[in-house]
Amino acid sequence: MLDRLTSPSGARVPEIDLHALATELFPINRSLTGDGVRETLAVVARHVGLDIHEVPTGTPVLDWHVPSEWNIRRASIATMSGRRLVDFADNNLHVMGYSKPVQAVLSRAELARHVHTLPDQPDLIPYRTGYYADDWGFCLPDRLWQEMTDDSYRVDIDSELSHGALTYGELFVPGRTNKEVLITCHICHPSLANDNLSGISIATALAMRQARQTRRLGYRFLFLPATIGALAWLDRNESRVDRVEHGLVLTCLGDSSGFHYKQSRKGAPIDRAVMHVLKHSGHRHESLPFSPYGYDERQFCSPGFDLPVGCLMRGVHGTFPEYHTSADNLDFIKPECLDESYAVIEQVLDLLDGDLLYERLDGRGEPQLGRRGLYRAIAGQREAGGATQMDLLWVLNLADGKHSLLDMAIRADVPFARIEAAAGLALEAGLIRPGAPSL
Ligand code: ZN
Repeated sequence: MLDRLTSPSGARVPEIDLHALATELFPINRSLTGDGVRETLAVVARHVGLDIHEVPTGTPVLDWHVPSEWNIRRASIATMSGRRLVDFADNNLHVMGYSKPVQAVLSRAELARHVHTLPDQPDLIPYRTGYYADDWGFCLPDRLWQEMTDDSYRVDIDSELSHGALTYGELFVPGRTNKEVLITCHICHPSLANDNLSGISIATALAMRQARQTRRLGYRFLFLPATIGALAWLDRNESRVDRVEHGLVLTCLGDSSGFHYKQSRKGAPIDRAVMHVLKHSGHRHESLPFSPYGYDERQFCSPGFDLPVGCLMRGVHGTFPEYHTSADNLDFIKPECLDESYAVIEQVLDLLDGDLLYERLDGRGEPQLGRRGLYRAIAGQREAGGATQMDLLWVLNLADGKHSLLDMAIRADVPFARIEAAAGLALEAGLIRPGAPSL
């Protein structure tokens, strides 16, 4: 058995403090491109070895082109007397992503065309981007905007749109076979915690764990700016995507809602694996059908690729009131929720790796368990919360080369790990032998 880090309650815990990593990354100004993305990847790379890819501006990727690189030094709206009312230095959400540079005095009416607020949530700053818009804008609390009644304001955005690159991070942990599990997250949002940082923190911790082990499957971790990052990776790896056996997009995993799993387009084994783990996790959970909207599953599951990739979330993007606002902050994500999400995904990865076919060496009737010391072995397992006699009987009955361990766990309605432990006993006793990988 592999070493596992466990908390006093027996639950699995990550090797790093997920909330602390999110806290460290929170202030960095990320966007589709730019130095904030590089800085973020440099922080992740302190924990796991990352390959950093730079794809030059203008590079065609599938039907798109890599956009200009965006960087920003400062931005503000000030009164004519010089009092700063809105300052990028206070919160990087104040500036619409990809805002072009501007220095001007504008009437309030002119400025209004470039101001974004949330009248229904007047104390929050919205998150807005204008990636391909050739525009600029400020985001501020509606309450502040309503108080801004001067005739004119001074606006200043010191930003740069230049020929640069799109940056993404990749870590591949090879397995014993050439089949891979793809784990992806986004790295393009500025100071938002649940949307992006929860996924980055959990993917980093999972990468650290997988990098310490050699498993049957390889594990590929991708830290990507939304859409264009996934398109760039697919474009550059088209000849290798058939190695992707399973994939999971991670997002919004730090809030306290129940889990939501969005199924793959094709109805892949990952769907069954995630739902099995969630069912036995004790957490509230719901399965959502595939739709061509959301995160990068819409690229991985586009018809020319149709990869077996689902998306795991707690709160569903676009549906919780904090989404894409300044309320998606470090208080909104909870350390215990991040840890729970990590533990669920860790179990999914172990399940995918261990889901093999077995067959009985002699399938005629039940084998005699006592003669092989299996009653004694089962009693030992029971004390450790492992396999029961019934689990062993399920394995011995369904080990016909056609049922995988997950098939057995679902049929027996018990956690996968118990069936896997029972299979381990049967294997040691020489009653079963491995068949081909099931999935
Ligand atoms: Zn988002």
